[in-house]
Amino acid sequence: MCKINNEFLIEEANRCLNCKNARCQQACPINTDIAKVISLFKEEKYDEAGDILFRNNPMSLVCSLICPFENQCMGSCIRGIKGEPVDFPKIENFLMDRYLKNNNINIEGNNNKNIAIIGAGPAGLTVAFILGRKGYNITIFDEREEMGGMLRYGIPSYRLPKDNIDLLEKKLLEIRVIFKGNIKFNENLNNIRENFDAVFMGTGTWLPKELSIEGINKENVLYAVDFLKNDINLGSNKTVVVVGAGNVAMDAARTALRQGNKAVIVYRRGIEDSPATKLEINEALEDGVEFMTFNSPVAIVDNGIVLDKTQYIEMEDKSKKLVTVENSRFIYECDNVIIAVSQKSEFDLISLRNSGFNEENGVFFAGDLLTGPQTVVKAAVGGKQAALDMEKYLMRKE
Ligand code: SF4
Repeated sequence: MCKINNEFLIEEANRCLNCKNARCQQACPINTDIAKVISLFKEEKYDEAGDILFRNNPMSLVCSLICPFENQCMGSCIRGIKGEPVDFPKIENFLMDRYLKNNNINIEGNNNKNIAIIGAGPAGLTVAFILGRKGYNITIFDEREEMGGMLRYGIPSYRLPKDNIDLLEKKLLEIRVIFKGNIKFNENLNNIRENFDAVFMGTGTWLPKELSIEGINKENVLYAVDFLKNDINLGSNKTVVVVGAGNVAMDAARTALRQGNKAVIVYRRGIEDSPATKLEINEALEDGVEFMTFNSPVAIVDNGIVLDKTQYIEMEDKSKKLVTVENSRFIYECDNVIIAVSQKSEFDLISLRNSGFNEENGVFFAGDLLTGPQTVVKAAVGGKQAALDMEKYLMRKE
């Protein structure tokens, strides 16, 4: 047994009260048995703890780095009521990193069925781990060269270092998962469905939701998902406006800042209304991202973005309504505008299902394609459910 020498982790584990009906677990979307994992950590049973984490959530390593903890385990920890919550994600990260680096993942079943996974993001990888371990023959298809989906191509590496995805990829190879990159989904869907016993689709939401304002097609405008996916370098010493205030907007602004630019988030509501997590907002502020709240974009012009000021007014029924402030229009000068108002899927689920790509015919869905843009842990939850449903389907077919 190897002793760890990380006082912080030991201190955090010792602060855990090992609660019955633990609030942290209840707040975890994938129901991680945090109290048990921390107990095993304290007993130095690191592999056992890692095994519990990984079996429950194959994306545990990633989740330990990028989950919105403040809304989940840490935000609900009983220790947080009067002080600091237990920093479980750091313990989880230590355990998962160690577990995946020191242990082989084994095939534990003998199911001779062929499964296709279309989309190598967190939902697809979760299905691959669960069913691959059970002995199914898994082939993952993706449009990009490498696996990981949003994990590799959407989340900047300062938040999620890519060696974590490489490690997961290595583990998938151990259970004989085959990866085929550079495959155009649209052109191959029928072919894939015909040649596999069951298909999982988790193709994500890679298309930006457009913003219909004047000037949107100007050269200096780009969409956050493209900016992040294609690692576009804007150059330095520029003023970059990011429109939107979700986590992708924060990622885009912080990435532009790291390229040596001034990054400004423009949002038509207040910061407290922002869909990004507090942690993401605080980290963006700490990095030096500026926020221009209560400003609504009207048009993009050669030298900047045209904005209207906005404000809340109280209605008769006491509800708030966001309105434009009269005669408040102005140009905020900038070099680039990045639009980050949300993403959508390239596939319409209803049409897909109507054309025969449905559960009845052995095609299952999860992840952002099914739910719209969500967190990694929610994609893993969806992937777990899809894996269960696919097994049931395959057993029925036998
Ligand atoms: S709520 Fe906090 S103290 Fe209780 S089990 Fe979870 S981490 Fe430990």
